Amino acid sequence: MDGRIVSARIREKVGQKVAGLTAANWPPRLVSIAVGAAEPAALYIRNQKRVADKLGIAFEDRHYPEGTTREEMLAAVQALNADPRVTGILIQRPVPGHIPMKELQAAVHPLKDVEGMHPASIGNIVYNDLILGPCTAVAAVEMLRATDLALEGLEVVVVGHSEIVGKPIAFLLMSEGATVTVCHHMTRDLSVHLRRADAVFVAVGKPGLIDGSMLKPGAAVIDIGINQIDDGAGGTRVVGDADYASCREVAGWLTPVPGGVGPVTVSILMRNVAKAAELQKRHYEKQYGTPTFVPDV
Ligand code: NAP
Repeated sequence: MDGRIVSARIREKVGQKVAGLTAANWPPRLVSIAVGAAEPAALYIRNQKRVADKLGIAFEDRHYPEGTTREEMLAAVQALNADPRVTGILIQRPVPGHIPMKELQAAVHPLKDVEGMHPASIGNIVYNDLILGPCTAVAAVEMLRATDLALEGLEVVVVGHSEIVGKPIAFLLMSEGATVTVCHHMTRDLSVHLRRADAVFVAVGKPGLIDGSMLKPGAAVIDIGINQIDDGAGGTRVVGDADYASCREVAGWLTPVPGGVGPVTVSILMRNVAKAAELQKRHYEKQYGTPTFVPDV
């Protein structure tokens, strides 16, 4: 499965929504916050900016020095929350150890939480109310939707139960009527569960965790893992958690890494940016009437 094809469909709709919001004087504006060493997030930021530019979303890349305190970062987020010209806030990982990531994430106003990682955004999924969903989990489910499998009654196994990937995937699928089994490092025999699964999601961070011999023939495999491994020639290459060569012999659908869930995740982020801008527009208009200022972009 090619993530770029699924991505293109999502981006087309996002572009239209952004154009509409911009014409209505409510242009989406995404602020990216990075703290400390620039290198780890640089590639992600460049890619996010490139996609935002293409879609007409203003993207502001802010860097704070390593020594920025927890209080200064929380204040910076609060200032962005209070600024009506900023419609989305994105916190790049990793942040230095003295800044608690969860606290920083929870400081973002839920209406500007375009990553869908605020406790309120995660909680809304349990209530079957997908307002701003966590990007990777939503992207992975979009990949399954791109197959011709009906989600009602589908036997799905999710491997990995992190708060931002595995658990939200399980809840999103339950709300679609799938029968979901969640596996983790204490699961006794992963293969027993995998062999009866019509669809498998794997988000662990262990290359080769799943191979073709563990799958039911024809199953859909959505690989979310991102691992850098030795390429045998002195360099590195990126692979997922599923052993691609053996899985493609057995699976009916298989997402590659790179080029699978990754590009769709960026598209879902941009879809959230447009959705967040729309929600804020509605919120401000309800409170203050139609805006009289023209946001500077
Ligand atoms: P995480 O927070 O480290 O969670 C990993 C999960 O895997 C945990 O729930 C862990 O369970 C489980 N696990 C560990 N060993 C296992 C085993 N042997 N068998 C089954 N489950 C096992 O990681 P994450 O943030 O969810 O990310 C997972 C992977 O997805 C990583 O490779 C990450 O780079 C990638 N990722 C990709 C995207 C994207 O856009 N494509 C975005 C985010 C993350 P326990 O807690 O029980 O140990």
